[in-house]
Amino acid sequence: MARVAGKVAIVSGAANGIGKATAQLLAKEGAKVVIGDLKEEDGQKAVAEIKAAGGEAAFVKLNVTDEAAWKAAIEQTLKLYGRLDIAVNNAGIAYSGSVESTSLEDWRRVQSINLDGVFLGTQVAIEAMKKSGGGSIVNLSSIEGLIGDPMLAAYNASKGGVRLFTKSAALHCAKSGYKIRVNSVHPGYIWTPMVAGLTKEDAAARQKLVDLHPIGHLGEPNDIAYGILYLASDESKFVTGSELVIDGGYTA
Ligand code: NAD
Repeated sequence: MARVAGKVAIVSGAANGIGKATAQLLAKEGAKVVIGDLKEEDGQKAVAEIKAAGGEAAFVKLNVTDEAAWKAAIEQTLKLYGRLDIAVNNAGIAYSGSVESTSLEDWRRVQSINLDGVFLGTQVAIEAMKKSGGGSIVNLSSIEGLIGDPMLAAYNASKGGVRLFTKSAALHCAKSGYKIRVNSVHPGYIWTPMVAGLTKEDAAARQKLVDLHPIGHLGEPNDIAYGILYLASDESKFVTGSELVIDGGYTA
């Protein structure tokens, strides 16, 4: 039996990287998946790949910082598939800068995508899931939401914010009797376009990242997708407000 058979999911930032792997895995395990992303061409390609593998998926253009775009994306999801059971707030950007070198403009851009985007996605998902009788929301934080890095002032703040916002939303939903669970996932470094962009294809820079992970290599998008699948499925029905660390021992 497929692990999320008959469920409807929306995954933000699913045109690439971890989000794409998650959308593919959820579809393989029986969910109908809406891919929300800024990048239409990559998003349509991801949809075509899911369909070619026998799954069900659709693309919606979504800027996670835009409340109206979120409402339209959920409306489109309900129109297409009739309900919402799973929301993965995955869209995010990397940004390197210390407390002294980060401008207010860059700080706000990072918070806007990484934190406002998760807040808005959680808010609209709760509204839709209340109508569907429950659901599971998974928010992408990071190991950088658990520990500090001198060069990640804005990123640390955004991902730490996602961690505690997730707990607040989880408690609110549980205490309101909504049957909606909310959890966060904390990846170590995963080889995606985001990390390729950070290391600029430089082997020495990549090795420096590898050395931070006691397991001896970087993660793959599917390492995170399987954790998200667990939290999205009913297998984790007693799990809410928790933080799933998938980091090859980085923070151990
Ligand atoms: P990625 O850059 O490979 O893909 C991110 C996707 O998000 C892209 O398709 C991009 O178009 C989309 N996106 C960016 N801004 C958006 C916006 N405003 N609205 C809608 N879509 C937008 O990134 P990734 O490495 O797959 O990371 C996914 C998530 O996991 C992010 O939240 C990231 O912070 C987190 N994360 C990644 C790593 C890692 O090592 N890759 C580690 C820890 C946490």
